[in-house]
Order: sequence, then structure tokens, then C-alpha cells
Amino acid sequence: MSAPQPISPLEAETTLLELNQELNRLQRTIRLAIQDQLSKLVGRSFDSLRKNRELADSIHQLLDSHGLRVCCLECGHPAILRVSPRGDSSGVFVFDHTIDGKRTFHGGRKTVPIIRLVAKPPRKPRQTLVKPSTV
Ligand SMILES: [Zn+2]
Repeated sequence: MSAPQPISPLEAETTLLELNQELNRLQRTIRLAIQDQLSKLVGRSFDSLRKNRELADSIHQLLDSHGLRVCCLECGHPAILRVSPRGDSSGVFVFDHTIDGKRTFHGGRKTVPIIRLVAKPPRKPRQTLVKPSTV
């Protein structure tokens, strides 16, 4: 056993940068896989409000566990897909998001809307050790 070598700043930076790039690639693969599977549900729905709500909730849980949100088709903001009981008894799919500090709902189709995934926005800007790649 030799004495541990101190980490050089370059080594730390390179390692974290490589890790960051690798995670970005993996994250992209995960995002595409989720998007691909969810596309099977687009344009479809259950005929019960409870089941549609459960579906929207399951989609949200799954996305949230991967740090993802759906992209609102109306305004492009990251949003949470929910089902509102509006008129029709099986409800409508809406994008729930905060715009200019106000909780706002967009959409309102009776079936699952086209799902485009985006990264969940951070609660507040974070300092990061890894600089963006210039390559
Ligand atoms: Zn919107």
C-alpha cells in the first residue's frame, strides 16, 4: 500500500467533466427510451377520470424520478401532466406549470398529448464545479 497521491486540480476537473458528459449521454438515452414508450399512449385515454388521473400520476412519478418534465405544447414551459375533471366525466389532460410566478394550466385534450421531455428546472441556480464543454 503506497501513500495516496493528492488529487491534482486538473485530474479532478477532467474526471468530473468526463463523468458529466457520460451522464448526459445516459440521460439522453433514458429520455429517448421513455419518450418512445410514452408515444404509444398519445391520442388515447381511459374512459374513467380515476384511471386517467392514475395514468397521468404514474407518468409524472416516472419522469420525476429521472429529473424530467413534459414540455407544454402551448408555451414550451416544463410542466407536470395532470388530469382535470372538466365537463366530460373522464377528464382532460392539462399541463400544470408556473409562469411568471403564477400556477397556470394549458392544454385540455381528452387524450394523452404529444409528450416531449425536458429536464426538470432547478429550484434555484446552482453553482457547478464542472465548466461547460467548449468542444
Ligand atoms: Zn404552457
